Amino acid sequence: MTIATDKIETRNLVAGEWTDSDGTIANVNPSDVSDILGHHAQATRAQLNDAIAAAQIAQKQWWAAGIQKRHDVLIAIGKEMMERAAEIGDIISREYGKTLPEGKVEVYRAGQFFTYYAAECLRQIGDTAHSVRPGIEIDVRREPVGVVAIISPWNFPVATPAWKIAPALAFGNAVVWKPANLTPASAAAMADIIVRQDIPKGLLSLLAGPGAELGQSLVEHRGVDAISFTGSVPVGRGIAAAAMASMTKVQMEMGSKNPMLIMDDAELDLAVAHSAGAAFGSTGQKCTAASRLIVHEAVHDAFVEKLAKAAEAFKVGHAMDADSQIGPAVSEAQLASNLAYVETGKSEGAELICGGGRVEARTEGFYMAPTVFAGTQNDMRINREEMFAPITCVIKADSYDEARSIANDSEFGLTAGIMTQSLARASHFRSNMRAGTLMVNLPTAGTDYHVPFGGRGASSFGPREQGQYAEEFYTTVKTTYQSAGEPA
Ligand code: NAD
Repeated sequence: MTIATDKIETRNLVAGEWTDSDGTIANVNPSDVSDILGHHAQATRAQLNDAIAAAQIAQKQWWAAGIQKRHDVLIAIGKEMMERAAEIGDIISREYGKTLPEGKVEVYRAGQFFTYYAAECLRQIGDTAHSVRPGIEIDVRREPVGVVAIISPWNFPVATPAWKIAPALAFGNAVVWKPANLTPASAAAMADIIVRQDIPKGLLSLLAGPGAELGQSLVEHRGVDAISFTGSVPVGRGIAAAAMASMTKVQMEMGSKNPMLIMDDAELDLAVAHSAGAAFGSTGQKCTAASRLIVHEAVHDAFVEKLAKAAEAFKVGHAMDADSQIGPAVSEAQLASNLAYVETGKSEGAELICGGGRVEARTEGFYMAPTVFAGTQNDMRINREEMFAPITCVIKADSYDEARSIANDSEFGLTAGIMTQSLARASHFRSNMRAGTLMVNLPTAGTDYHVPFGGRGASSFGPREQGQYAEEFYTTVKTTYQSAGEPA
């Protein structure tokens, strides 16, 4: 067991300097409320203005520095993150409540986004064309958009900003980053790695603060050229409206209600393992969590029985204990919301199969038992609203067609999975499921770093993130017509 006792006081990174401010917030360990990691400064409007002004200058220097420089810096950032994955992963465990392996894997993967986009810096195959008018040549090039505002949630406090900051820098932009107020210390650790590189002062600023004030000021700031947001749908809608008003480019990844279809020909034990892992991993606080398990009636009862056993077998405990498999909810408010959803499910007539309440651990924290509801209908609130909780709901279906139709009946469309041994069904699912990311015989959670990630419906808005597709958002296209002039 390793419990860190060091204090981590965090400041804001403004125009290349770590800067204090008057207001601070305590950073509480959700596994042990007596453990205050430290305090983190809340950025002011004046600091935001300074950060954006510095970013505008730094961006031009960074773009002028060229592709080899950008490549080398991104490689160095990625390598350091991978080397320090355990150390920074510990911070994530302590301030957020992910288990130690989950925290470490997250940071390592964040490093991989930087090394991947280092390579993308060098991929410079452009487009040329002959004009329809004789004597004129055309080329089409990509240029950076400028200053990118990055707004990230608490649930992947390092990986999510990494998959935004890495392409932003690779394609020549500057970044002003507002992390979630629940996870400032891991954000500061990553910002510190970036800012210690040989980069222009102010290329990256990190400003912590409340979303409704600081975040809103950032998205409305006229010095921002593009906004990349990951978070909840209601906040995303507000950001989209602000971006439309100022004609600012915007990209958003938001919530979901990911379905997983368990068919009558599924390998049942594998289906249970994948469902439980995707539903309860990271305490259910994943946008890709399996929250609607749509199960063929032929295997329904056996599946529910095995799923309940799997859920009850998880060891819930202090995120930094080696034997913990599920940590606490991120905050008291999140736990209260989870427990309220249990009451909602019961009042809607769902059958509580297991869990549903708090769990005692060796320290006082926001622990909750993995929870399974069965006998649920797709129109219940517990199947319509993202709970972000270790709660999953089983819906019985009488056929594949019914299961897929239930799965598609949602405002969201981030990930969707099917467990089947039929190639025909898997192919049909692939063509007819309305979601941005599909999983066949795999959990709904768990994606690679080199291919696009995103959803449909209310889950995503704007160009895709990750892989080569990120270029669309982080660059703008310029078409140049050139004539050699009159021949001499
Ligand atoms: P949230 O929407 O409350 O906050 C996200 C970020 O937006 C935070 O930094 C917050 O401070 C900021 N914010 C809040 N109000 C703002 C405003 N008015 N203007 C500008 N910024 C504002 O979300 P959260 O609770 O931090 O994270 C959980 C949500 O994130 C879930 O809905 C989850 O599905 C979603 N998520 C989605 C993905 C994805 O890729 N689709 C990945 C991870 C998390």
